[in-house]
Amino acid sequence: MNSLLQLLFPTACLLCALPDSALCSLCESKISRVTGRREIAGTPLWAGAYYGDELAQLILLAKEENDQPARNYLAGLLVETFMSTKTNPSQSPVATFIPIPSSPLANRKRGFRHSYLLARRAAALIERSSSQTVAVIEALGVNRKIADQSNLNRAERTRNISGAYSVVSRHIPRSFLLAPEPIFLIDDLVTSGSSIREGLRALQEHGIAPSGVLAAGVSPRVFS
Ligand SMILES: [Zn+2]
Repeated sequence: MNSLLQLLFPTACLLCALPDSALCSLCESKISRVTGRREIAGTPLWAGAYYGDELAQLILLAKEENDQPARNYLAGLLVETFMSTKTNPSQSPVATFIPIPSSPLANRKRGFRHSYLLARRAAALIERSSSQTVAVIEALGVNRKIADQSNLNRAERTRNISGAYSVVSRHIPRSFLLAPEPIFLIDDLVTSGSSIREGLRALQEHGIAPSGVLAAGVSPRVFS
């Protein structure tokens, strides 16, 4: 029974393999949390933690290897950011998450949609711990070929992504048009902010104005 449990719920640290929880306290302590809110293209941004080696590894595990405990950790960071957006506890009992899309090619190569799964996981954690309902709508799609952003500088990222997202109307259910608020754009990591700016542009062009952006991680260089 024990070995079955260990198979289902691994108890070694994802980063250093120390037998502990999914993330040992030493590795966890190296991930520094972000406090307060920032702004991007006139929209509030809440981020969970600053980007560093540990967070980079967790994002890679979730994004490239479909690793559930890593995704759970990132989703937990998103839940914390969502809770920080609440100024009034009696706020709207519903919310909508719109994930920043990956390219269809990246999705095909991976065999799963990383940003969608991350947003779904965060939504499930919020629904489990509160009476709030969180819909995840893949309202944004990539409409042309884009290069992998990781090796591009800030100006190149902006050029690469500009005009690359559009709203996928068929993914927007009627219920969203009736009661969408508040809407949050969701991303695993904000580095230059170019994907977020492009996501906001595409949504705003379609008459959708998100209340904020929630990111699991943020680069300290860009938002310090
Ligand atoms: Zn560790």
